[in-house]
Amino acid sequence: MNDKRAIKILADLIAIDSANDHESRVADYLTTLFKDYPVKIERLTYAPDRDNLIITMGNQGPLLGFSGHEDVVAAGDLNNWQSPPFTATIKDGNLYGRGASDMKSGLAAMVVAMLDLLEKGQELPGRIRLLASVGEETGEYGAAQLVKAGYADDLDGLVVGEPSHFNVEVTHKGVIDYYVTSKGKCVHSSIPEQGKNAIMPLIAFAQKVQAIMDRHDQKDPVLGSFTHVISQIEGGDQINSVPDHAWLAGNIRTTPIYSNDQIYQELEQLVVELNAQGAELELKYSFPEVSLPSQANTKLALLAQEVVINELGRPCELAAGTGATDSSEYVLAGDFPIIILGPAAGETDHQPNEFIALADYLAGCKLYQALALRFWREYQ
Ligand SMILES: [Zn+2]
Repeated sequence: MNDKRAIKILADLIAIDSANDHESRVADYLTTLFKDYPVKIERLTYAPDRDNLIITMGNQGPLLGFSGHEDVVAAGDLNNWQSPPFTATIKDGNLYGRGASDMKSGLAAMVVAMLDLLEKGQELPGRIRLLASVGEETGEYGAAQLVKAGYADDLDGLVVGEPSHFNVEVTHKGVIDYYVTSKGKCVHSSIPEQGKNAIMPLIAFAQKVQAIMDRHDQKDPVLGSFTHVISQIEGGDQINSVPDHAWLAGNIRTTPIYSNDQIYQELEQLVVELNAQGAELELKYSFPEVSLPSQANTKLALLAQEVVINELGRPCELAAGTGATDSSEYVLAGDFPIIILGPAAGETDHQPNEFIALADYLAGCKLYQALALRFWREYQ
């Protein structure tokens, strides 16, 4: 495919406003690109106008997954943009628009790589499955749904096309955001014995949970420490009332040394213990994500690094990622290598005037195709 058409595909994707919604419009567009080829196109609906899209090509051989999300974050204050966020604007070799880096360029580059291989019209030695997800930016629930429906079960490897500056990200932390609410009984503060103070059991929880989490002091060699921060706390209505409600929130970053399941158990155990002593605590999570154990020794990571260095002529390190990508869901699907690898420019993800250097985007198109060919050979 010529560069002009590859750039048009990216520009068309950016013109679709899929900020935290309307991913079906991205799915519709991608479907039209593949309509003349012998591929299997499937959809998995999350909500109205929010479809995950699955495109599988090839008839035999190793199956490489390409993961990309269809949504983008909101544009924010339009006054901070020098060009309209949902119009691709090319200036000085860069393409500007919401999602230019995170990650419509990664998604488009994967699609271009697939179309390029299909255009050759030859029998391929392997298969590719594009997993285009909804809701990555607001909880990775599209990928969770794809995993649940079995679309990752038969993968032999997976590349998540998030912006990585062409480094191969092979590990990242998990995250557990939790909320604890405490219930009491409100009475005038002059007769506290007739009420129930909701703040006190919450303080007990805060102190105990800190001590329990502090025990996780073993460091991951790459990711470093497990961390826990009680980041919000609130309760009561006024100074002369016994408070009948209070809540706190905590943020935990897990490493592969301590599984999310272990942490859930510890948190839940503490709530059970305090409730047995008369507290009325309730624990909830908001889209927790597991960590990605190091993939540094997998064949996929090493050959991806080799392809970036040899085919793109760029430096490439096996690095730690920031986490919170669809990889946290796919790692639950089974035993196949996962890497995060995609084009990125600057540090403009989620910011106004997000952009990608066209040279980086086009290198991404080339990269994914070369990687698929290498993968098929190595994983036969
Ligand atoms: Zn992203």
